[in-house]
Amino acid sequence: MISRRGLLGAAASAVAVVGFDPFGHRWVTGAEAATRPSFAGVPPLDGELAVDAAARQAVATDLGNIVHQQPQAVLRPASTGDVATMIRFCSAHGIPVSTRGQAHTTYGQGLSAGLVIEMRHLRRIHSLGARYAEVDAGILWKDLAIAANGHSPRLTPPVLTGYTGLTVGGTLSVGGIGGIVGGLRTGLQVDHVRELEVVTGTGSIERCSRQHKPDLFDAVLGGLGQCAVITRAVIELVPAPERARNFVLQYSVNAPFFRDLRLLIDRAGVDHVYAEFTAPDPAPVYKIHATAFYDAPAAPDDAAILAGLTAEAVVEDTPYLDYVLTIDRLIDMLRETENWDRLVKPWYDVWLPDSTIEQYLAELLPTLTARDIGPYGAGLIYPQRRDLATRPAPRRPGPDGSPFVYVVDINTVSSAPGADPQFAAEMLERNKRLYARAREKYGAVLYPIGSVPFTAQNWRDHYGSSWSAFHAAKRRYDPTGVLTPGPGIFSPRG
Ligand SMILES: Cc1cc2nc3c(=O)[nH]c(=O)nc-3n(C[C@H](O)[C@H](O)[C@H](O)COP(=O)(O)OP(=O)(O)OC[C@H]3O[C@@H](n4cnc5c(N)ncnc54)[C@H](O)[C@@H]3O)c2cc1C
Repeated sequence: MISRRGLLGAAASAVAVVGFDPFGHRWVTGAEAATRPSFAGVPPLDGELAVDAAARQAVATDLGNIVHQQPQAVLRPASTGDVATMIRFCSAHGIPVSTRGQAHTTYGQGLSAGLVIEMRHLRRIHSLGARYAEVDAGILWKDLAIAANGHSPRLTPPVLTGYTGLTVGGTLSVGGIGGIVGGLRTGLQVDHVRELEVVTGTGSIERCSRQHKPDLFDAVLGGLGQCAVITRAVIELVPAPERARNFVLQYSVNAPFFRDLRLLIDRAGVDHVYAEFTAPDPAPVYKIHATAFYDAPAAPDDAAILAGLTAEAVVEDTPYLDYVLTIDRLIDMLRETENWDRLVKPWYDVWLPDSTIEQYLAELLPTLTARDIGPYGAGLIYPQRRDLATRPAPRRPGPDGSPFVYVVDINTVSSAPGADPQFAAEMLERNKRLYARAREKYGAVLYPIGSVPFTAQNWRDHYGSSWSAFHAAKRRYDPTGVLTPGPGIFSPRG
């Protein structure tokens, strides 16, 4: 490892990286330096550059356990300067660079054969005020939510993903759908960023916002790490409610489920809605979770919220932060009891317009078996209000006259931990087939967090009319094309 003490001190260690051999295309350790007279020296860093087998193996896959690729080196940055220094170095030597948040995408999106930057080493809250927090990109949303809740008065990010153990930089790179907070009264997480600090593919440190370098801001938010690495974000905060009242309703038939879902997402007093579905056994089970936030003593009007619905509601009432961490508790339990991180997760995630979602689910569900979701997986539907989305990315279906659009997830999880290439191959084939049909017949658009194999042409079609702007931004901000090869958008994985 190489540290602030510089090359001299680092060269004393057996695993110290002192440079890169551009001819052999490999890193040179301190032990090898004497026998290799010609190599490019790594500049001094505040953090560490590791090339030992354990460090490389630890970042060789993601939550999906489908794609495996060991990098040659791992950067544990201690500053934005470290990220800039190493990107500049890698760009000069044509070394691919991937940024790793929690690596909870499932198809190798954050893997690379070159350098992996472990962002979790940058995870400070720099400031937390009444309207904004400035945070490092490696902080977890959970940690920001807890800190904001502890502020006086209590605050919260306006949009939180279902599981909050994800990094700010990771979800801002994909979009950040409000799985537990936001969506009906807010846009996505990318809609609530005031400013970013990023390092471009040339190693330049920039700040950008809607007003300042808006093309860079547009290219980075929901930009899948293609043009820059997010190192800091200024995130909006809003007053946090004291409590959450959650109404859970169950159905086995498509039509009444959708009727009630549509009533609830448009109903005054309802702040958040998501739904679950299972494979038919023999009939599918649909569950709606509708939530009203409030400050006691002004409790929600249950009768008004439930008026005209066909199913009985089970009501739960919890402090806001307990509600926010509901899915985190579930994942923590699976981590402890089922070896969650090692289960295979070939996830399928698409946006669907309101005009086709009901028909799509009616066609999709009878084709699924229990294995398609798995004992620890879930089928999920997240309704989102269209007009609150302000950013060009992530891509979504075009207008269909409805104010709503939905994300549908089949979060498939294997029943036992460990690699299972046959299961993975079968589910990847399923995802390809489901995606092609959903796109052609139902106007679906990929939400690129899961495991749908995509060719370069698929990506071009995905970006459609915005492809040329995205391509131009890639050329401008990452001219040597080193950043984030995982999704294979501009070049094959490498
Ligand atoms: C249990 C669970 C629940 C989830 N719920 C939701 C939900 O409710 N809503 C939702 O939208 N998503 C949800 N997701 C998906 C999640 O948003 C994505 O997988 C997200 O990318 C995870 O963040 P991460 O920190 O693991 O990012 P990573 O997987 O590490 O990174 C994602 C991509 O962004 C790149 N990247 C990472 N950090 C940076 C950075 N700082 N700068 C530039 N590029 C970067 C990576 O290289 C990679 O290509 C869920 C995932 C899980 C596992």
